[in-house]
Amino acid sequence: MANPNAASSPSILRLLPSIDELIGTESGRKVVGAAGQRRAAALAREVTDAFRYELRKNSEGRTGPASALTKESILEALARRLEGAWRRSQDSRLRRVINATGVIVHTNLGRAPLSEAAIAAITNEAKSYCTLEYDRTSGKRGRRGAHAEGLLAELAGAEAALIVNNCAAAAFLVLTVFARGREVIVSRGELVEIGGDFRVPDVLAQSGAVLREVGTTNRTRIADYEKAVSENTVMILRVHPSNYRIVGFTETPPLEALASLARSSKLLLYEDAGSGALIDLTKFGLTDEPVISRSIADGADIVTFSGDKLLGGPQAGMIVGRRDSIELIRKHPLYRALRVDKLTYAALQATLDAYMREKAESEVPVLKMLGLSSEALAERSRKFVSDLSGRVPPDAGLGFEIIEGNSAVGGGAAPNVQPPASLIALSHSAFSASHIEEKLRSSEPPVIARIADDKVLIDLRTVAELEEAELLDAIAEIVDF
Ligand SMILES: *Cc1c(COP(=O)(O)O)cnc(C)c1O
Repeated sequence: MANPNAASSPSILRLLPSIDELIGTESGRKVVGAAGQRRAAALAREVTDAFRYELRKNSEGRTGPASALTKESILEALARRLEGAWRRSQDSRLRRVINATGVIVHTNLGRAPLSEAAIAAITNEAKSYCTLEYDRTSGKRGRRGAHAEGLLAELAGAEAALIVNNCAAAAFLVLTVFARGREVIVSRGELVEIGGDFRVPDVLAQSGAVLREVGTTNRTRIADYEKAVSENTVMILRVHPSNYRIVGFTETPPLEALASLARSSKLLLYEDAGSGALIDLTKFGLTDEPVISRSIADGADIVTFSGDKLLGGPQAGMIVGRRDSIELIRKHPLYRALRVDKLTYAALQATLDAYMREKAESEVPVLKMLGLSSEALAERSRKFVSDLSGRVPPDAGLGFEIIEGNSAVGGGAAPNVQPPASLIALSHSAFSASHIEEKLRSSEPPVIARIADDKVLIDLRTVAELEEAELLDAIAEIVDF
């Protein structure tokens, strides 16, 4: 059996540089500058160890031309490897990417990009000290998030609001506070899984609530809910199926009907609206996203939804509803564990301001992208392709054409809505689509695109106009070697 340690070749191993020599090379000094002395030394040790192992293996199997190695060539090879190791270690960093997938609320790419105002708020309002829990009128301690909550309550037409870490936290908190050890009635058609790790039955179980399923997968009637009410029932839960639709022979009672049953039976009506629209999104083709103010008007006692889906703000979980319910939640110890930080309040406050000023459609990126007409998108794509022809020589082998396709809403919302889009299809005479996709992914900043029919598709809907120059560079670089 091969034992790399047994047949070492001491003469060659003596040519290996010391760690200090390696990080003293030009490449080494670059890595030290970027990574710091300690990290650079650790990486230098890793690449040297790997190299030593290879040398031993080679001399044992007599495969490599080990004798041709000199002290200089080894140092040079290790310096290159050190830089490579540093670069690779940075691949996993959180960084900006260009989203050319056309998926607007792309969960893997951070869901909603923030508005200019929200970004400014993070750097200004939350930069240094701020009035997070300070009331400057009285000069005394103030309530955390009071202003953002006020905006949210008003936009939702609700008595009160509370903001937590995300919608999953909001749902867990609501169920824990009100339904621990009690029964919650849910339609079988709404026992859904959203985004892999949010499963309605599991969240209920974890909160200590007892699930009382009613109806069938496709049809649940108000009578099914009525029959399920017992003295142990505390709540009716309505879940927006978000990323899932049942079509055909379906039935579910309107929220008003659930509200009147809840009132007559002294139960709470809680709707988990998921993506949650603060304005009616019908004009963007999103016809079945619950409008939060409508749910409240229809009689929901509590509604929860995400901050970074269709609302277009930072990650957050919104809880709106009756003041007494919201105050009970605020006082629960679990709220303390799920509350948000000043950066979130700052970004959220600025995003909600845009809704308040009725400017959300022109200022909040998610809504701007949803509202981009297919004509405007086609015009951008044509202009981009013409710029691309100016950049890439005709004999470079790169093919690009505009094809008709679709963007997607994403983020577990409106799975049946696919805004028509003029896409730029890239291909190359010598490279496969996956090779092009990989080149784009490794450019700076990385460009994320999708592949269909052995072509790489670029959808400008999710690319900011300011990013187009970078995108052009990245595509031109595919043929630049
Ligand atoms: C997305 C979604 C959630 C989870 O929201 P997060 O903000 O990602 O925690 C919960 N419920 C519904 C109905 C959803 O659509």
